[in-house]
Amino acid sequence: MQTAIYPGSFDPVTLGHQDIIRRSSEIFDRVIVGVLRNRAKSPLFSVEERVKMLEDVTADLPNVEIQSFNGLLIDFVRQNGARVIVRGLRAITDFEYELQLAQMNRVIAPEIDTLFLTTNLKYAYLSSSTAKEVAMYGGDTSAFLDPMVARKTREKYLSLGSGEIDKE
Ligand code: ADP
Repeated sequence: MQTAIYPGSFDPVTLGHQDIIRRSSEIFDRVIVGVLRNRAKSPLFSVEERVKMLEDVTADLPNVEIQSFNGLLIDFVRQNGARVIVRGLRAITDFEYELQLAQMNRVIAPEIDTLFLTTNLKYAYLSSSTAKEVAMYGGDTSAFLDPMVARKTREKYLSLGSGEIDKE
């Protein structure tokens, strides 16, 4: 059985991420989405909230599971008996960083490969950060986020008291 790990921050999950998860689930027997806990940048959503949203949007994909992880990605991959890391590539700007990461991981763990899936052109411009910025100003995020994720993101900003900044 081939297991792949798709790691990221998913703060929050976007339609671009969902596209990569669905396509990976058609290639591999089992896909584990790994939600990174120890980020230097402070996330908008807690890791539990990010995991829950991912579980909801992947509920129709039986071979996909969501886990959070701490520390080295390679250790998480090994613990789960996987040999492949999936990453999404949007533009050439992603490439340099992703290549460096993949090569470093290969030095640490030569038995593990990174597989890049090119993004759906529809989502090539999309990132969690840009979707959050639109949500923060009360804009329509339906082209970027699942409706449930869009609602939670909007609610989060309202609860933080930053939902109406500069709106008038
Ligand atoms: P990270 O902070 O580790 O880059 P992200 O949650 O931003 O985590 O992204 C996780 C993975 O999803 C990365 O491989 C990233 O390149 C990919 N990704 C992000 N946005 C998109 C998108 N719109 N389409 C396809 N892949 C994407």
